[in-house]
Amino acid sequence: MTEPWQWHEDTWRGHVERVRAGRPLRPEAWPGGAKAAVTLSFDSDHETIPLRDGEVLPGKLSQGEYGARVGVPRVLRLLARFQAPSTYFMPAVSALLHEGEAKSYVDAGHEVALHGWIHERNTQLPPQAERDLAFRAGTSVEYTALPSIYREFRHDPDLAPLFEKHAKAIGRTFPDYPDKMSGSTDMGNVSLRIPAIHPMLSFDLPPEDGNHTAAFDVVAGGPDGDRFVHDAGLAMARTVAEVAQSGDLRARLITKATDR
Ligand SMILES: [Zn+2]
Repeated sequence: MTEPWQWHEDTWRGHVERVRAGRPLRPEAWPGGAKAAVTLSFDSDHETIPLRDGEVLPGKLSQGEYGARVGVPRVLRLLARFQAPSTYFMPAVSALLHEGEAKSYVDAGHEVALHGWIHERNTQLPPQAERDLAFRAGTSVEYTALPSIYREFRHDPDLAPLFEKHAKAIGRTFPDYPDKMSGSTDMGNVSLRIPAIHPMLSFDLPPEDGNHTAAFDVVAGGPDGDRFVHDAGLAMARTVAEVAQSGDLRARLITKATDR
């Protein structure tokens, strides 16, 4: 690398030309005949300065919090006293940490400006990362409830009794709980469109030892659990086989699936 005193004129002139200020932007006169104009702007960096350097110890983070808790209200009071609008440059992480602060600026007639994601040092970032963070900082997320809601699972009235019949045929009993064939599952909405069942068998345990209990755990993990899986699979297979062999039932199920 050459020393600056060895540079050719093109080099030193090139460095300087790259950062020339250009034409003056000063207007002929300031609004209201003012002698001068002053811009007031503030960086609401808070905790992001230590955070962007990976400093997570209490000292510097608490300085950041002090800015949000004490500094910001003082500045806002002062500006309100002089009716002076200003601009707040706020990193996105700072806005996320101090909910409502950005809105308080806008409510008081000030302006909020982008100030990066976590006060990252842009000049040290690869271009793609700088671009990604800029977009992330300027992006807001809104949650909108979907028009359809989650439905409870519905057993198809043709399929459910078939499964019960085949499970009973291989020795399974169905305790007469009021919601005998109900089931919580993420298939709720699907079951409204396609004839479906949520096949369930029981372990002949008392109702208080239902699933998600220790007693259930012991039985399910032993030989009874193996038999359970075998029987459930067999009952489902026989249910499917019967549907496949019955022209009427098959046609009815297909009609239900296509009509909905
Ligand atoms: Zn800053």
